[in-house]
Amino acid sequence: ELKSAYPKGKPVLHNNLPAVIMHEVRNSLTVTRGFIQLLQPQFVKVGKDEYARVILMELDKACEMLQDFMAYSKPRSPERTIVDVSELFKELQLLAKSQALAKGCRIEFMEEVEDSMEISIDLKQIKQVLLNMIKNATEAIDELHQERSGLIRISAERNGHFVKLIICDNGSGISAGALARLFEPYFTTKERGTGLGLAVSRQIINDHGGTIKVSSTKGKGTIFDISLPLVIN
Ligand code: ADP
Ligand code: MG
Repeated sequence: ELKSAYPKGKPVLHNNLPAVIMHEVRNSLTVTRGFIQLLQPQFVKVGKDEYARVILMELDKACEMLQDFMAYSKPRSPERTIVDVSELFKELQLLAKSQALAKGCRIEFMEEVEDSMEISIDLKQIKQVLLNMIKNATEAIDELHQERSGLIRISAERNGHFVKLIICDNGSGISAGALARLFEPYFTTKERGTGLGLAVSRQIINDHGGTIKVSSTKGKGTIFDISLPLVIN
């Protein structure tokens, strides 16, 4: 079942938050409120830990949806600095690992990155793109509630004047129908997705003069590759 509440490419007005996101955020806040109410002394019998877990999960979800939407409605042009790919990976590792671990899957960064691969990037934006990818990968692994263990691999290789960043997972994979619409704003296959992560990611990569591609096999896994121009010395 696919949810796409808005037509492709429709501009979004700042004073007109899409109803679907408003609705989801309100849901999260309503659930959170209910659980906080249950934490009041007269109600607490058992399950305090469970209440706390749900409260945090719902608040995270609401923040996440607002963040996706804000990134989509307020694109900004990159503020570039020159960064080595190995540096980018180092910056990313801690957060990526905790994100993957929380979902019970392993994440492996390539051991040795060629040390001379420099790119001129908005570090914050490119980190955001890679975290979007990793989040999608963990969710795809989650969806498979699988017998084989979930694994995400992240690597980088030189390709002419570009560096290719590769994010590979052994999650649910993507059907051919979904593959064609993946980067459309508001396209999601998740019950509580915004469908904005990939749309924002592609915009950021385009702004950097790069490209983003995907290949996937349903039931096997998915590979995203992001090409960014190298700094030529
Ligand atoms: P959201 O995560 O909110 O659904 P995204 O733009 O991040 O929005 O992703 C859009 C859709 O692309 C997802 O709903 C999912 O169907 C698909 N997708 C993205 N990455 C993966 C992946 N690694 N494995 C399987 N499906 C994916
Ligand atoms: Mg996403």
